[in-house]
Amino acid sequence: MSAGSNDHIVIIGNGISGVTLARFVRKNSDCKITIISSETEYFFSRTALMYIYMGHMRLKDTQPYENDFWEKNKIDLKFDHVTDINFENKQLNFETSSSMKYDSLVLAVGSKPNKFGWPGQDLPGVQGLYSYKDLELLEENTKNGINRSVIIGGGLIGIELAEMLHTRNYPVTFLVREGAFWGGVLPEPQAKMIERHMTTDYHIDLQLNTELAEIHAGSNGRVSKITTKSGEKIDCQLVGLTAGVSPNIDFLKNTSLKTDKGILVNEYLETSIKDVYAIGDCAEFKEHPTGRRNLEQVWYTGKMMGETLAYTLTGAKTAYKPGNWFNSAKFFDIEYQTYGWVFAKPQENESVFYWEHPTKYLSLYFVFNTKTHEFKGINTFGIRLRHELFDRWLTDKMSIEYVLEHLKDANFDPELYSQYEKQIVQQFNSENNTSIKPKKKSWKRIFNLSQK
Ligand SMILES: Cc1cc2nc3c(=O)[nH]c(=O)nc-3n(C[C@H](O)[C@H](O)[C@H](O)COP(=O)(O)OP(=O)(O)OC[C@H]3O[C@@H](n4cnc5c(N)ncnc54)[C@H](O)[C@@H]3O)c2cc1C
Repeated sequence: MSAGSNDHIVIIGNGISGVTLARFVRKNSDCKITIISSETEYFFSRTALMYIYMGHMRLKDTQPYENDFWEKNKIDLKFDHVTDINFENKQLNFETSSSMKYDSLVLAVGSKPNKFGWPGQDLPGVQGLYSYKDLELLEENTKNGINRSVIIGGGLIGIELAEMLHTRNYPVTFLVREGAFWGGVLPEPQAKMIERHMTTDYHIDLQLNTELAEIHAGSNGRVSKITTKSGEKIDCQLVGLTAGVSPNIDFLKNTSLKTDKGILVNEYLETSIKDVYAIGDCAEFKEHPTGRRNLEQVWYTGKMMGETLAYTLTGAKTAYKPGNWFNSAKFFDIEYQTYGWVFAKPQENESVFYWEHPTKYLSLYFVFNTKTHEFKGINTFGIRLRHELFDRWLTDKMSIEYVLEHLKDANFDPELYSQYEKQIVQQFNSENNTSIKPKKKSWKRIFNLSQK
């Protein structure tokens, strides 16, 4: 479909995916656009939620656009909750008993924190961390101070919550089911590095191989302790549930829309119903167009999907092609980046090379094909690497030897930072009986990416 000036595109969700879509549609069409959300009136950066609690930002500092941006760009905002959708009549119904018609509908409804049916999971003082409302609840739950919090589930949101609580000097116990922090994703030596950082530098009480059994209420009806499957009791006044997120699609479950974990889409982000699309955290590919995971709940993929669908809705049908996988995050003070495919354990035909600084929190974990030596991916902690270059090297299927030889090109840290390429390459040479010599950094090579 190509949106004409009489068409009405309705977007449920004012997160990064819905808002990017609206902005890019507006660049190419004067159709009517409405964005609906029941979370906040204006778009804010979800990734900055932690900084509000930590006192570095206010909600308005996390809003990338001035409040009059929407009116200036003729994007209508509606602050309400969609309770159900009549796909046959192309109509949405709201909590406030009003309704709205659409010509094209885009579902950009995001995620919700996972709950696995733990006894006590809905007690006061037990919460997830996803929405602005969760942040307000966290303020409320900690307003009188707490003696201890327990966080369930070791991933990116769990460690952010640990850091947030730590900045207010609330002791944190972190229960992680696996034998290593974010053990399903991080290779063991890098998981161990993060564990050292959070336990020694931030005094987080990290309990690995530990599963929650039950959350108990005290005489005031609020959470007072948890018990683990091994029978340990931990007194606490706050429980953070951070065992991952899943698509926020409960209100769509009894409709004709095809869903699995998320809303099923094809490479054009079309759902099973005509003129209905899904983007961002809630979209699940039946088959991923570039062989990545079918469900990717990260900021930049939502942005890319929003932009891609906007082209389709304004007449240039475009398939979603996100390129090589990458991601970045911060674990307390340690910056993490990943490019290409790095799994917790090497896959068949994969070899790894690991370098870690003896005293600082710096490490690189390279993955390459055992037979061909094709470079497959890298995790870096504490050393910032150039995304464009790794993306290019992955696309061009460069070898591990090439990557190491040109590692100085990839280093994004300012020149005055200590650089470690020499040590890294020396270690690779001695482990692999090679004689690679790191080349000097070349700006020509960095900016002229076609030059090998
Ligand atoms: C604390 C935290 C930190 C994160 N940090 C990172 C990071 O560092 N890097 C990264 O890549 N990703 C990060 N993420 C993930 C990232 O924020 C998400 O992938 C992204 O925000 C998803 O965007 P979205 O537009 O798909 O959905 P959302 O941002 O979730 O927006 C969906 C909106 O739709 C609204 N909505 C849903 N249903 C209805 C309805 N029925 N009626 C009305 N409104 C509705 C929701 O309330 C919500 O406002 C983080 C997430 C969290 C929670």
